[in-house]
Amino acid sequence: MRVGLGFDVHRLVPDRELWLGGVKIDYHLGLLGHSDADVAIHALCDALLGAAALRDIGYHFPDTDPRYKGIDSRVLLTHVVALLREKGYRLVNCDLTIMAEQPKINPHVPAMVAALAQAMGCDEGQISIKATTTERLGFTGRGEGIAAQAVALIDTLR
Ligand code: MG
Repeated sequence: MRVGLGFDVHRLVPDRELWLGGVKIDYHLGLLGHSDADVAIHALCDALLGAAALRDIGYHFPDTDPRYKGIDSRVLLTHVVALLREKGYRLVNCDLTIMAEQPKINPHVPAMVAALAQAMGCDEGQISIKATTTERLGFTGRGEGIAAQAVALIDTLR
């Protein structure tokens, strides 16, 4: 078994859709990035890649590559799982924490779990998503951005 850790931050700006955990959330701001900027999926991708010692999301999907402009991060996640499978690994479980002052994340968690399970081709029970504020402290607390952390456990296919 192998474990990996992922962390990501994106800035909240006007005139962008807010995508989090593979779900579009109705909010007056969205995350800025080359892709759809789904910070939760990016942290999860890095946790999976880290567990397999396969570098990081920026290495595989550079933000200078026009192929990834505006891309749905669920596509990136599916690709990461395929990279792991090629190496003989499969997901055991993953656990995510999304740090945001606004909007409220918890009502969207079941839809996020379903979206991630579909993108990874795994059971919903292998995925945990948690949400927290940072007590109005720091950039997340001021609503300037959203941060996410993920840990993933993988093992070898037999
Ligand atoms: Mg990112």
